Amino acid sequence: MLKVATAVQSNIPAALTDGQAAGHHTARMADVSRPRPERADTPQLAAFRLLKIDQPELAAAVDMQVELVVLQHRVQARVSTPWLDFDAAWLAKRLVDGMPILKFEEVPFDFGELRTIFRQVTEVLRRYDVVEPSDYEDLQALIRGGRPDTADAAAWFKSAALRPRPAQAAPPQAEAFSQVLSVSARPFLGRAVESLQNRIDLTPWSRAYCPYCGGDPELAVMTPSGDRRLACGRCGGIWSFDEHACPYCDNRHPSYRTTMATSDRRYLLVACDVCKRYVKTYDARGATRPFMLDVDTIATLPLDAAALQRGYQT
Ligand SMILES: [Zn+2]
Ligand SMILES: [Zn+2]
Repeated sequence: MLKVATAVQSNIPAALTDGQAAGHHTARMADVSRPRPERADTPQLAAFRLLKIDQPELAAAVDMQVELVVLQHRVQARVSTPWLDFDAAWLAKRLVDGMPILKFEEVPFDFGELRTIFRQVTEVLRRYDVVEPSDYEDLQALIRGGRPDTADAAAWFKSAALRPRPAQAAPPQAEAFSQVLSVSARPFLGRAVESLQNRIDLTPWSRAYCPYCGGDPELAVMTPSGDRRLACGRCGGIWSFDEHACPYCDNRHPSYRTTMATSDRRYLLVACDVCKRYVKTYDARGATRPFMLDVDTIATLPLDAAALQRGYQT
């Protein structure tokens, strides 16, 4: 869940091994001694539960993420899926030019719902000490003033969707406000992207940012067929990206990369020694479940901790 989740990782040990994957996997998720998920569990909640058993040090981060995901799902269930139609020639040019597809007006925002979830997300983050008391006071004052409003949502959306990104002396919104807005807007963006995922051929898209909303990649997934896909932290959209390139600076030199992996080799982190940024990857090859952005973001917090210790940044 963006940087929000990394704020609860201060007590998480950087448990991992260095080097390249050895080519075998420890099927920790498939351990038969684990409790079976209850019937009401979604596959995602079941995966969260297993994660907590496997890595008890992540319990607080998992609990917080589950609360956020439940809020998001509740809103997303109430938002209707828009039917978006595109002129084929317009769309093809857009993709070749590296311009994200979705326009702000096409995201099915309900601003009453947005303000409600914004208020709830603020409370959850405060309860887990992810929001500083002073930021919390500022957020409360904004909430009392009827924010976030249409202009806030538009400014937040366009801060990533406009390409090239407009040069700015300062970001348009305070960091805490923008982070809470990102979590709160996800159900609306998610709905819009849902209606596009299977209808649009993204073959011409080779950029490192999201073809739907312009967001930055949050995680990568290595598909069972061995392709690397990136997943957007804002809308959950997924797209292909060259496995050998750094998404941030396009460095392709293998000797300028540092690789770390969790002990079960399910998660990899590739850090770029040119720009000092990194990408975390869920390796779905031979895995017992598919990639789940919200679960895998939390499962990889120990990798974040290890990378930060070594001077890399997200
Ligand atoms: Zn996106
Ligand atoms: Zn780089």
